[in-house]
Amino acid sequence: MTFSEQIKNYQWDDIRLSIYSKNAEHVKRALSKSRLDLEDFKALISPAAEPFLEQMALKSQRLTQQRFGKTQQFYIPLYLSNMCSNICTYCGFSMHNAIRRTTLDMQQIEDECLAIKKMGFEHILLVTGESERKVGVEYFKQALPVIKKHFSHITIEVQPLEQNEYEVLIDYGVDSVLVYQETYNSVTYAEHHLKGKKSDFIYRLDTHDRLGKAGIHKMGLGCLIGLEEWRTDCFYVAAHLSYLEKKYWQSRYTISFPRLRPCEGGMEIKSEMNDKQLVQLICAYRLFNPEVELSLSTRESEHFRNHVLPLGITTLSAGSSTQPGGYAQQAEKALEQFEISDDRSPAQMAELVKAQGYEVVWKDWDHSLTAK
Ligand code: SF4
Repeated sequence: MTFSEQIKNYQWDDIRLSIYSKNAEHVKRALSKSRLDLEDFKALISPAAEPFLEQMALKSQRLTQQRFGKTQQFYIPLYLSNMCSNICTYCGFSMHNAIRRTTLDMQQIEDECLAIKKMGFEHILLVTGESERKVGVEYFKQALPVIKKHFSHITIEVQPLEQNEYEVLIDYGVDSVLVYQETYNSVTYAEHHLKGKKSDFIYRLDTHDRLGKAGIHKMGLGCLIGLEEWRTDCFYVAAHLSYLEKKYWQSRYTISFPRLRPCEGGMEIKSEMNDKQLVQLICAYRLFNPEVELSLSTRESEHFRNHVLPLGITTLSAGSSTQPGGYAQQAEKALEQFEISDDRSPAQMAELVKAQGYEVVWKDWDHSLTAK
């Protein structure tokens, strides 16, 4: 059994109706429980929970501090390539966009690592477009030893791979893998993934199963908020997490909740989520799962990040550039994947975190802890 089989238990329209039929009593019951199930999660993300936001935020803050202390982990993305063989309607790197393409060579990667290292980071997120020919496993096998020298935790966000390929990359130093389903609605998925391997909904959906079997230390999941009705899509994220935790209990998990941002070839957003609703979702994830890491990127505004930070977030990016070569070189803005909203430096971000009484965690992991 993989998640693509499990998901057949959840019919999209039934889930949506069930979320929208939750009432205040369901929300109160969910708030009173210490172990929540998926029905409780539906109640917490429903419109009926909106008047309970303050109670949700207080409980979310308490649970987060109990499990993670008053800490925020910092990471930074390193874009290695904007080559991509897919057409996704919402992304600046999409194959049909006429932008200059580049893939960093080993010297450029070294230069980027040195520039990032000066900012203090130990956790790095390697990002590429999805091009197996240009940035496939052979490229990562060259790049990872260059990067590994500088960082204690490596996360990748690249095309979904086979189990044996993940096993190779884990041996080369990868600790965590992020793969976002974008939307769990297969029809909408097909409308936005027009060409390339990414158009295979099922292959992507079963990626976390391959990761679990490969023995990855941590995996990340989420949907791209705005492609579909957000409450229903986020229910599927919670259901996916629940399934994975039971089956691959040795791995840790992290959830992101990116909202669609303007990009090259920008498209209309189907389901707008306002700031209050994003806070509601963050708190709902925390109440549903006190163990999961919740990550907030620089897609979100300075104002929003300042206010939401204590309510459940455990992981923050800072000083991000979404263009290959964006740290060591003055790369052209035209190469970026999407616009950054919070452009504060890592030092400024660290000051803000400390001013809120939190400790910045630059390093909480070393690959040697799991190296064979
Ligand atoms: S979202 Fe990923 S796969 Fe799709 S075009 Fe962008 S980089 Fe390529």
